[in-house]
Amino acid sequence: MKAYKGNRVFEGYALGRLAVYSAIKVEKAVGLGKEKEFERFCHAREETVQALDVSYAEALEKLGEKEAALFETHKLMAEDLDFEDAVNAELDGDVTAEFAVQSAGEQLAEIFASMDDAYMKERANDVREVASRIISFLKKDVKGFVLEEPSIIVCDDLPSNELMKIDRDLILGIVFVKGGTNSHVSILTRMLEIPSLCGVDGMVVDESLDGVYAILDANKGDMIFEPESQVVADYTARKRSYEEEKEKLQAFKGKPTLSRDGKKTEIYSNIASSFEVENALKNDSEGIGLFRSEFLYLESSDYPTEDEQFEHYKRVVEAMNPRQVIIRTLDIGADKKIDYFDLPDEENPALGFRSIRICQARPHIFLTQLKALYRASHYGNLAIMVPMIISLSEVDFIKRTAAQARDELRASGIPFKEDVKIGIMIETPSAAVLSDLFAEQVDFFSIGTNDLTQYTLALDRVNPNLKEQFDPRHRSVTRLIKTVADNAHKAGIPVGICGELARDEILLPFFVKIGIDELSVSPAYTLQLRKRISEIDTKDVDLKDFI
Ligand code: PEP
Ligand code: MG
Repeated sequence: MKAYKGNRVFEGYALGRLAVYSAIKVEKAVGLGKEKEFERFCHAREETVQALDVSYAEALEKLGEKEAALFETHKLMAEDLDFEDAVNAELDGDVTAEFAVQSAGEQLAEIFASMDDAYMKERANDVREVASRIISFLKKDVKGFVLEEPSIIVCDDLPSNELMKIDRDLILGIVFVKGGTNSHVSILTRMLEIPSLCGVDGMVVDESLDGVYAILDANKGDMIFEPESQVVADYTARKRSYEEEKEKLQAFKGKPTLSRDGKKTEIYSNIASSFEVENALKNDSEGIGLFRSEFLYLESSDYPTEDEQFEHYKRVVEAMNPRQVIIRTLDIGADKKIDYFDLPDEENPALGFRSIRICQARPHIFLTQLKALYRASHYGNLAIMVPMIISLSEVDFIKRTAAQARDELRASGIPFKEDVKIGIMIETPSAAVLSDLFAEQVDFFSIGTNDLTQYTLALDRVNPNLKEQFDPRHRSVTRLIKTVADNAHKAGIPVGICGELARDEILLPFFVKIGIDELSVSPAYTLQLRKRISEIDTKDVDLKDFI
């Protein structure tokens, strides 16, 4: 029995045989001469482009515009002249078109992979995906990846178009040994709710794994090969009870979130892209508590325009209407770097030039975003939330820029809501300590416990060596949360929590007791939290146990 650890992409259990997915590997071979091989390449590229058009249309119908856009990107890559030049240069070596495409694709992928920008890095996989599509048209005799029985797919990475071709009913789970949690295919996997892991340390994907019996525990991040019968029995039972629990949770759909003694909390969703709104609705989320808008910027190769942003925000706001949608303004910097922002290198990026600080230094970026947000407000119940606040002067700046955005829209005759609520994230000790003053100035608070923990404990949240010490239940953090909640309520404004701590089962009774108005979590946790809250009687909760 062998075991590995990975990062969760989507929760759940899978028990079954492994099916190894690997991209077609082409050996170097002499071709039919440069001219003929170039002709073969052009023909295969044409077929690829046609197939991408079909995939685009299918994705548009099944998944929406955002996912479909990926196929447009791939089409542009296939037709890219730099790519054609690289293939041509390879063909000078008298090789086959297949080999030239593979080498050219690899060269371009390496260039993308070496870039600092996370978005550009992820494009390396797109180039490989396009190259492998062209190769599959050149090698018509080679059978593609086909699942014949329900299996756990193991791969280094899997192109999203390949995933879409596989019958969902035959996919028990997926292990992306090299993939990241925010790749396109990971996002797609979450949307399809497939138990899956990525970034599995030490695991090597090769054909010897094909057909091996394995257990995937995506809840804990474990992958177990050839388990003993006792382990199989144990996981079969865990999977059954997990599924029964999930089934029972359906009874909580359409119900308000109430504690046993009748205290109301709302369960909102955290999303990172507009198409995730489907998940929020499917899980009966009562609103969106955190739309991390920076992913729009991370997924673009240049500043997203006002119109582009407006379309994304509008989609979410319309889909959720009349439920509230809290959209967080740009939270760039620290671990989220974007090339086209041209941010300075810093000794301490988490304490550096980020979020509102960038917006103040480059107000046109903030103004564009605020105008897109106000435009979207016309279509439902939108609220604006600004991260990383430390001073009241920042709130003045936000209000001034928001007024300017409204003035400009009004002057252009564009409809928007005048009274959009403006709130701030409480994720620095400074904002928590001054929360009585902030509460007089803004419409709501949302506590970002990921950063609040990092800054209160002076512990880097992304440093793997500090994982053990990173304790968001630390009394210094819970005391700050209590202070913030009390100050919000004294001023008559609502307070939510949108950091990972919002779904902490140990602190849940504390949150309900102190009257947190809204907990914002990944959509998949909505019903689970509603059920847990229904079991809490706040009369039995002693605050001294938590602060
Ligand atoms: C937080 O800091 O708790 C938060 C929700 O924001 P992010 O994790 O995006 O920094
Ligand atoms: Mg934060």
